[in-house]
Amino acid sequence: MLNIGCHLSSSKCYLHMGKEAISLGGNTFQFFTRNPRGSKAKAIDEADAAALVALAAQNGFAPLLGHAPYTLNPASSDPRVREFALMVMKDDLVRMEYLPGNLYNFHPGSHQGQGIEAGIGLIAQILNEVLTQELNTTVLLECMAGKGSEIGTSFSEIKSILSRIELPEKMGVCMDTCHIYCAGYDIVDNLDGVLEDFDKTIGLNHLKAVHLNDSVYPLDSRKDRHARIGQGTIGLEAMINIINHPRLRRLPFYLETPNELSGYAEEIQLLKANFRED
Ligand code: FE
Ligand code: FE
Ligand code: ZN
Repeated sequence: MLNIGCHLSSSKCYLHMGKEAISLGGNTFQFFTRNPRGSKAKAIDEADAAALVALAAQNGFAPLLGHAPYTLNPASSDPRVREFALMVMKDDLVRMEYLPGNLYNFHPGSHQGQGIEAGIGLIAQILNEVLTQELNTTVLLECMAGKGSEIGTSFSEIKSILSRIELPEKMGVCMDTCHIYCAGYDIVDNLDGVLEDFDKTIGLNHLKAVHLNDSVYPLDSRKDRHARIGQGTIGLEAMINIINHPRLRRLPFYLETPNELSGYAEEIQLLKANFRED
């Protein structure tokens, strides 16, 4: 079975999002833990969280994916910006514990001229402060396209962050197909080679989620703009190869394509129709 969902607006309650995911034909979804461009978070409604947990169990959901706001920069040169990232991530992880056993994804950040090494050190420092033995959430580093001074653009940078984590079993990686393609990994003509590289550098056992997006910009463009499935530079055939690849096919896939709900339903349908059951 294909594990697939899409990004849903968090303006509604958790239970509503779960039902929406099912109505779109999916068995999971991604949501922002709070305002993606700010820091405001709604108070957790425990009954609502419990209702989603029950709905997900009844319907055999794949893991849910909470996405941190874009404004976080754990690698910032400004200590106040790093303090803010620490506070938000700590609070998000407390919130994620109401949905135990799921995933929390964040963008590693931008070093802003300090250099990649310094940035990697700062990201690891924050992670080592927020991760605890008791945590029931897996924290994912998202592979980035390489805009500006973004960290996490190569598999070796991701590995370098992971290797500094004191509780590595609490961490994983989220591969965004648009981002890695724009970062120069040719998943269209050399998917096997890219996955081999990921495996040798990071280890495919650390890959926990895929953001399935087509791309407006070409290979190695270092730009980040998502396109609808089959309407970008990656194309439908490559997307079908990705969801069916023996080393990826059991992972959860999350669409972050520019769509209204009806467009998401169509993409989910299209991908499910092209998934080869074993
Ligand atoms: Fe993201
Ligand atoms: Fe993404
Ligand atoms: Zn993106």
